[in-house]
Amino acid sequence: MSDDASLDGFESTAATESDDADPAVSTYEWSPAGGECADCGASVERRWRADGERDGGLVCADCKEW
Ligand SMILES: [Zn+2]
Repeated sequence: MSDDASLDGFESTAATESDDADPAVSTYEWSPAGGECADCGASVERRWRADGERDGGLVCADCKEW
């Protein structure tokens, strides 16, 4: 066995790529029948979980603080 060094290099590259997930994806909810925005009251299919002062509420894209 003389390829240990190259194998280690390949594994560290793969680990870096798999760690490239977007954390924002899991913070939104989709309601096919529409859901009410906690801020402006609009009925929208896609709402995002508000952070900070409106903790726990689901707001539309316009009200979400990006
Ligand atoms: Zn809204």
